[in-house]
Amino acid sequence: MTPLLEVSGVSHSYHTMEGETKALSHITFSIFNGEFVAVVGPSGCGKTTLLTLLDGLAAPEAGTILVNGRPVSEARQHIGYMFQRDRLLEWRTILANVSLGLEIQKRMTSQAREELISMLDAYGLGEFAGSRPSELSGGMRQRAALIRTLALKPDLLLLDEPFSALDYQTRLTVCDDISSIIRKNGKTAVLVTHDLSEAISAADRILVLSSRPGTIKAEIPLDFSGETSPIRRRNMPEFSAYFNLVWKELKI
Ligand code: ADP
Ligand code: MG
Repeated sequence: MTPLLEVSGVSHSYHTMEGETKALSHITFSIFNGEFVAVVGPSGCGKTTLLTLLDGLAAPEAGTILVNGRPVSEARQHIGYMFQRDRLLEWRTILANVSLGLEIQKRMTSQAREELISMLDAYGLGEFAGSRPSELSGGMRQRAALIRTLALKPDLLLLDEPFSALDYQTRLTVCDDISSIIRKNGKTAVLVTHDLSEAISAADRILVLSSRPGTIKAEIPLDFSGETSPIRRRNMPEFSAYFNLVWKELKI
C-alpha cells in the first residue's frame, strides 16, 4: 500500500541577514490513510516549518515529500491547513467564513452551501451561521475554522497547535470535539503540538522531535484498545504510562 504521505530525508534551513538557522534535519516518516499522527517537540524545534513543507507552501532544502506518490507541489488541493489562530474574518458571517475556501477555488455551488449548513448544524453552529466571529466563543471559532478546512474535502489535514489559544478547560472539550469530527470523517491528520498530553490523548502515533534542528527522536505507536476520545483516554491507565515514555524521549 502506498502511504498517503511519504517524507524522506527532509532538511530545511532559513537564511536571514543574521545568518543561517537550521530548522529541520533528516526527517523521514510515512503516514497511511486514516491515521491520526501527532508531532511533539519543544518550541522552536521546527514543527511549524515541517507543516509548511507538508503543505507544499515551501520546498525543502533537501529530501522529498510525496502525497499519494506524487510530489506535494502537485497535490496542494488535497491538503487542508488549520492554523494556530482561527483566522476568521470579522466582516464575514460564520457561513461566509466557512465558504471562503470554496469561493476562492470557485467551487461554491448551492449544493456545497447546503452541505456547509448541515455541517454547521451537525457541529453545533447551526444557529450561528449568520453571526460574526466575535459573537462566538473560542471553542466555537475553532470548530468553524475546522469546518472551513473540511469544506475543501482535503485528504490530509494539517493542524498547527489548533488549541493553544484556548484556556485549559475549553481546550480539553474542543480537542475532544475536533478529534471526533476528524475521525468521523475518516480524515488523515497531522497534529502539531508542544503539549504531550494533547498528543497522547488524540493520536494513533506520536513522532517526537528533538530541539532545533528538529530530528525524529522517537516514533511511538499508541494503543488505547480502540478508545479514541481524548477525554476518556486521559482517565485510562495507559495514559500515564505513555506520558512517562514520551516525556523521557523529550528530555534525553
Ligand atoms: P516551532 O513551530 O516548533 O515552534 P518553527 O518551525 O516556527 O518552530 O521555527 C523553527 C526555527 O526556525 C526557529 O528557530 C525559528 O526562529 C526559525 N524560523 C522560523 N521561521 C523563520 C523564518 N521565516 N525566517 C527565519 N527563521 C525562521
Ligand atoms: Mg509553531
